[in-house]
This record gives sequence, structure tokens and C-alpha cells, in this order.
Amino acid sequence: MLDFNASVLLIYTGGTIGMTEDSTGALRSFDFNYLKENVPEINRLNFNIDSIHFDTPIDSSDMNPDKWKLLVKIIEENYEKQDGFVILHGTDTMAYSASALSFMLENLNKPVILTGSQLPIGKIRTDGKENLITALEIAVDKNEKGEALVPEVCIFFQNLLMRGNRTIKINADNFKAFNTFNYPILAEAGTYIRYRHELILSRPYNLKPKFHYLLDPNVTVIRIFPGISAEILRATINIPHLKGIILETYGAGNAPTEKWFLDIIKEGIDKGIIIVNVTQCASGSVEMNRYQAGKTLKNLGVLSGNDITTEAAVAKLMFLFGHGLNREEVKYNMQLSLAGEITV
Ligand code: ASP
Repeated sequence: MLDFNASVLLIYTGGTIGMTEDSTGALRSFDFNYLKENVPEINRLNFNIDSIHFDTPIDSSDMNPDKWKLLVKIIEENYEKQDGFVILHGTDTMAYSASALSFMLENLNKPVILTGSQLPIGKIRTDGKENLITALEIAVDKNEKGEALVPEVCIFFQNLLMRGNRTIKINADNFKAFNTFNYPILAEAGTYIRYRHELILSRPYNLKPKFHYLLDPNVTVIRIFPGISAEILRATINIPHLKGIILETYGAGNAPTEKWFLDIIKEGIDKGIIIVNVTQCASGSVEMNRYQAGKTLKNLGVLSGNDITTEAAVAKLMFLFGHGLNREEVKYNMQLSLAGEITV
């Protein structure tokens, strides 16, 4: 149901969608108004669209925790007067931002939809127009009671609405740039937008939204590979102030069983570092009991990331450490689903 008095805040951060090609073919950021000129359809939507943009639009490679906080601030300041939010964002780190926002915006009862495009909006074959228009419609879509249909942080791309903290970028140039292999699609846009209501997070009745600004970036990702050396692993666990490592392992959560490898992992855990086991596979889950190579890690105290993505695990660790949780509390929370990021 479309609410004709509804209003969306369109937040422009940068990325390909808002870039123009200059004579050298390089992509450059442009002024936000250009977006409206290039997508006149926006003016025909039957609801209000307010807009705000980063002072300097960025390639999303420059996204960072401070900019996530800025996004949360913009959303908090406009929360009461808007029905939903659409964030235009570069695709490269969109899955990280969507994950971070899903933790930083607690008890969300309005949609926050991230979208972007693979081709700039000024290009004839751009995918940006459809992505933008449909994301705006989803951001104001409500049920008969006037409640938002999608009270969560999502990515909308190529007709698919996906839970943000389940997404990964899967393609550098195809229009189908994202997928959520470990969670079904929340809605598909065709002639109609078909929502799968049973899969969407429920509205947090009686709970006020909470806007979180505390993140601790002292985490890192180690992707193991055949030939990884003791030097690399040791240097990692000795990074000053490091609190968490996402260990990207093989298959169901397997890693080398050689003594030197296990000794360094144990050394890291003894130093108080939380090590989370996340699979390198795009789909499927860590099951540390399945093979000896996983079981050994479990016995050392490595945590299972289950089916969480690396993007969501990074954001979740930053969020939990940022809130000053102790080791046991972080471990406990990593096993819980805080925003639908993990299958429990
Ligand atoms: N490099 C761009 C970015 O992430 C790519 C894109 O927008 O799709 O900002």
C-alpha cells in the first residue's frame, strides 16, 4: 500500500550511480541535483523525497566506521519525520555498510534500503534507475495498519531485496551484483513487488529505536591459503591492540593441522584475541565438528561463525568491542542473531 503523504530521505554517499564520465573516461563524483535531472521519474513518484549528500561523495572504497556513524547520525536526526531511508552507495563496500548499519540501528521500524548501480545513472543502459526507483518505493511501502513492510536494513539490487547483513558482492560488472546465499531473498520486483513477509524481521513493538555510535576497528581478517607462513600468522596476532580475527577457513571451517599453525592460533587466543571461524565459501556454514581439521580449532577456543558472512562478522565484532563487552560477552553475542545475520 502506498501512502501518498509518505516521505523518504535519499542519502547520497557516492559510488558509480552518481558519477559522470569525463573526457578521460575516469569516473568523477557529481552534484546530487544531477541525479534528479537524469531520473526525472523521481518527480512523478507520489510521495515526498528529501535528499542529503555527503559533502564530498566517495568511492565506497573510502567507506569507514566514521562514515557509518555519519549515516547513523543522519538517520537519527531525520528518523521521526521520514517513513524510510534510501542510501545511494558504491557497490564495492555496500555489504559491509549494510551489515554495520544493521547493528548500529537497533529496533528499527522503518526501512533503510541501500542501493547503487554498476553503470552511472547518466549512461543509457544504466541499472541505476530501476534500482533507485524501486528502492524508493520499498522505503515507503506499508501494510493496512500503516506499518512499514520492511523494517530492516536491506540492499536492493537488480530486482532483488536482500537482508543487508547477509549480502556479499558477487560480481564486479554484471548487473546482478549481490546475493545472499545463506538467507532467502526478501522480495522480488517484477510487475509487482512480491514480499516474502515471513522472512522479513518483525517490527520491534514497544521498543524505541536505538542509534549506536560505538565501534572499535581493532579487528582483522586472515584468509588462509596453502602456503600461509608462520611469519604472517604470528605478525597478525602481535598487532598492537588487536581484539578480533575473522579467520577465513576452507569449506566447513577447516584449517591446517600442523603444530606451528595451531600453536600460533592458541597463542593468539591466550593473548585474549577472539578468533571467529568463517568459511571462504560463498554459501554454506562452518561446522567445526565435521572434520578433525575443524575440531582441533574448536578445541583451541576458536569460535564458529556458523553461516555469517565475513562482512557481517567484521561489522559485528567492531560493534561488540565498541560497546566495551568483555571476552565472554563478545563470544556469547557472536553466537546470537542480533539482526538476522546468522542462522541460530
Ligand atoms: N568503485 C565503486 C564504489 O564502490 C563501484 C560502484 O559504485 O559500483 O564506489
